Amino acid sequence: MDNNCIFCKIIRGEIPSRKVYEDEDILAFHDIKPVAPVHFLMVPKLHIPSLMEAGQGHQAVLGKILALSGKLAQEQGAKDGFRTIINTGRVGRQEVYHLHVHIIGGPDPLPAMLKR
Ligand code: 5GP
Ligand code: ZN
Repeated sequence: MDNNCIFCKIIRGEIPSRKVYEDEDILAFHDIKPVAPVHFLMVPKLHIPSLMEAGQGHQAVLGKILALSGKLAQEQGAKDGFRTIINTGRVGRQEVYHLHVHIIGGPDPLPAMLKR
């Protein structure tokens, strides 16, 4: 837990969020500024700042997030696919330093991943 982390505050219920899913390891909630009809975030409850700090001890929770992503995405309406994005660090233009996976369904089809 990081007292100043906005996602830790959401996990603790100190900041409201629109919950998609919760268990002992994971919270999923809708992004406050969605870029698509389906746009939610999946976070480990453990405060891991980014993928730069992720290590072997985090394999289980990170695997759990990905293994659950398709089910939650479909439940939220992304029936024909979606994109997962993890922004990491300055170059990755990460804004919130609590590791999170964006689940983005739409627009249909999504633009190409990056401009060549
Ligand atoms: P990043 O750029 O770090 O990958 O993305 C951070 C995401 O968190 C952004 O899409 C932003 O809209 C979302 N976000 C930031 N603050 C809050 C908040 O207080 N509540 C929710 N639900 N989403 C937030
Ligand atoms: Zn945190």
